[in-house]
Amino acid sequence: MSAGFEFTQMSSWQALAAALRGKLLLPGDADYEERRHVWNGAIDRRPLAIAQCADAEDVSAAVKFAARQHMPMTVRGGGHNVAGLAVRDGALMLDLGAMNHVEVDPQARIARIEGGALWRDVDAATQPHGLATTGGFVSTTGVGGYTLGGGVGWLMRRAGLAIDNLLEADMVLADGRSIVANEEQHVDLFWGLRGGAGGLGVVTRFAFRLHEVGSVLAGAVFHPIGSAPDLLKTFRTFAADAPDECTLMLAFLTAPPAPFLPAHVHGTPAVALAWCWSGDPARGEQVLAPLMELGQPLARVGGFMPYATWQQTFDSHAPAGDRYYWTTSQFDAFDDAMIEALVPLAATSPDPLCEVHVHHLGGAVAKVPNHATAFTHRDAAFFINVIGHTAAAERFAAIRDWTHALRSVLSPFARAGIQPNFAGESSDLRGHAHDSAAQARLRALRAHYDPDGLLAPLRER
Ligand SMILES: Cc1cc2nc3c(=O)[nH]c(=O)nc-3n(C[C@H](O)[C@H](O)[C@H](O)COP(=O)(O)OP(=O)(O)OC[C@H]3O[C@@H](n4cnc5c(N)ncnc54)[C@H](O)[C@@H]3O)c2cc1C
Repeated sequence: MSAGFEFTQMSSWQALAAALRGKLLLPGDADYEERRHVWNGAIDRRPLAIAQCADAEDVSAAVKFAARQHMPMTVRGGGHNVAGLAVRDGALMLDLGAMNHVEVDPQARIARIEGGALWRDVDAATQPHGLATTGGFVSTTGVGGYTLGGGVGWLMRRAGLAIDNLLEADMVLADGRSIVANEEQHVDLFWGLRGGAGGLGVVTRFAFRLHEVGSVLAGAVFHPIGSAPDLLKTFRTFAADAPDECTLMLAFLTAPPAPFLPAHVHGTPAVALAWCWSGDPARGEQVLAPLMELGQPLARVGGFMPYATWQQTFDSHAPAGDRYYWTTSQFDAFDDAMIEALVPLAATSPDPLCEVHVHHLGGAVAKVPNHATAFTHRDAAFFINVIGHTAAAERFAAIRDWTHALRSVLSPFARAGIQPNFAGESSDLRGHAHDSAAQARLRALRAHYDPDGLLAPLRER
């Protein structure tokens, strides 16, 4: 590279830095190292620069700058994407971390949320009004990427996916233009935003419908691993006609050294069934009773608590900076042969931090037609996420192999397609996250709104 080229580049960066209210971070700057790292510590990529956007005008300035230079861009919302889609070698990262303001209109039951907010920012603003909308199973996930990938969570069976509550999005397109997408303007784009997994523009502000959700009946029952087949069968039966106010999750995990668990099981494989009931608590007690009666649990925890408290309960299971590798599969049914295939491998993970999460869908999620949004697998009955997790670099290969082995044993039972939010690698998304009709429609939208593919999330790395 000639000295002249470097000089030209530097003067361009200076021009961008001068146009931003936020900071521009270049390699060598102290904060560059911190912000190039995302939640998954296994991702190690170096963007050309990081534009820390303070507002929508900063986003527009940065996008126009990149478009002029034909420079690929990535958007960092919460930075939680397991495949690390927020960061790419040789691209400009638009870091929306400072754009986390949430404004609530309690009368209209609408929250306006900036594109870099986390779900805990949303809860902090909505819960004082006794309101909430569907956010993640943990509170540290970014609203941005989560929503663009559909958004499943504790409230989904009552309130729908996050995208079912999305009213509109303020966006900066790949050419720097600012627009609003909703059911009346840029209607096709609004369709693609809801589950298309990004790459159609930068959302600077989301408007969401809110629901009356103050406290919920939530908790978990822990069993020894030997009870896993019976617990899965109970989960399956219960899920078949569970009321919409109820969302369950079953987890294979290593029993933590928690005071509520007997000391002799600490560090041994266990299984937990967790629930969130967001309706009338007295009815919830009745409906959930059969889940409490099974076998001889190691512990029962939970009670009536603010929704935000429950949403934060599992945050400590997913610390930033550890190494993660996930696979995900979805199912129309959950038969005994599948249970026999799943349990032995799920119970023998290579690292005590690994978990396997079994989820159901249905309820309000399944009431929206598959092609009403770009989230085209909403008619699946169940999905399973295999959470490879280790703090030790040398165990990463083992957790990756274990997640692949589990995916293989589950594959004969799985239906085609995956939920985009849980893809462990960007290659898992290609051709799998949407059915073929939706893929074609998304391709056409990307060709129209980002013809040079500058924001393309699935670009080869
Ligand atoms: C511990 C953990 C728990 C999770 N729980 C759930 C869950 O309960 N339900 C669920 O559905 N998913 C869940 N996920 C998956 C999560 O929703 C996705 O990984 C999602 O991509 C994260 O969004 P983010 O903004 O934090 O990610 P980022 O890594 O910042 O971004 C992910 C993708 O979205 C794009 N993007 C982000 N913000 C914007 C924006 N404002 N405008 C345009 N593009 C944007 C990025 O460019 C990138 O392509 C979880 C992930 C983790 C790590």
